[in-house]
Amino acid sequence: METKVRTARIVGRILDREFPDPGIPLVHRDAFTLLVSVVLSAQCTDERVNQITPVLFSRLGDDPESLSKASVEDIREIIRPCGLSPAKSKAIQGLSRIIVREHGGEVPRTFPELEALPGVGHKTASVVMSQAFGVPAIAVDTHIHRCARRWGLSEGSTVERTESDLKALFPRARWSLLHLQIIHFARKFCPARGHHPEECPICSELGRRGLPVFP
Ligand code: SF4
Repeated sequence: METKVRTARIVGRILDREFPDPGIPLVHRDAFTLLVSVVLSAQCTDERVNQITPVLFSRLGDDPESLSKASVEDIREIIRPCGLSPAKSKAIQGLSRIIVREHGGEVPRTFPELEALPGVGHKTASVVMSQAFGVPAIAVDTHIHRCARRWGLSEGSTVERTESDLKALFPRARWSLLHLQIIHFARKFCPARGHHPEECPICSELGRRGLPVFP
C-alpha cells in the first residue's frame, strides 16, 4: 500500500502539471444532453458523438419531453454512425419516457435512480453525477482501467476493482478531476498499443524513483 500511495502522489502531481484544467470531452448543455451523449459514447469516439448530438437535438429536440415522443426509428436513423444504434435508440427513448413519467422531466440525481434508466450503467451514472451534478465520482472507462494497471495503482482485474482502488488512493475531492485528467493523459500519452516511455512523463518519473511500472 505504501508503494501505491507514493505512486498515487507522483501521478497526481504530474497530472496536475500536465492537465491543470481538463475539459469535459462530450459537448452538452445540461444534465439531460450529457446523459444522452454518454449513452451514445459506448464503443464510439467522443468526436463522433459530438458530431451526431447537434443533429439529433436540433431535429428531434434536446429535452426529455421531446425525445420521449420521438420514434425509435427516427432516433436510430440519426445516431446510426455512433454504432449499436438499435439498442441506443431504444435506450434514449426509454430513458426520456421514464424521466418524464417518474422524475418530473428532470434527470434524477442519485446513483440508484440513474442506474435504473435503460442503457445507463454505473460508468454512465458516474459521469453524470460528477460532471452534471458535481458529486465526486470516478467513472472507470477503458483508458482509466489501463492506466491504473500500468501505474501499479490497481491489479485491475475488473473495472469495479479499479474504481475502488483509485478511490482508496485519492482524496474524494479530487475524484472527478482525476477522472478527466487520466482520460486526457491516456489519449495524449498512453494508448492501448504503441507507447513511448521515454517521452512519457509518468512512467519515466516512477522508474527514476524506483517505483514499479507495468507498461
Ligand atoms: S510509459 Fe507507457 S504505460 Fe507508462 S504512462 Fe507512459 S505511455 Fe502509459
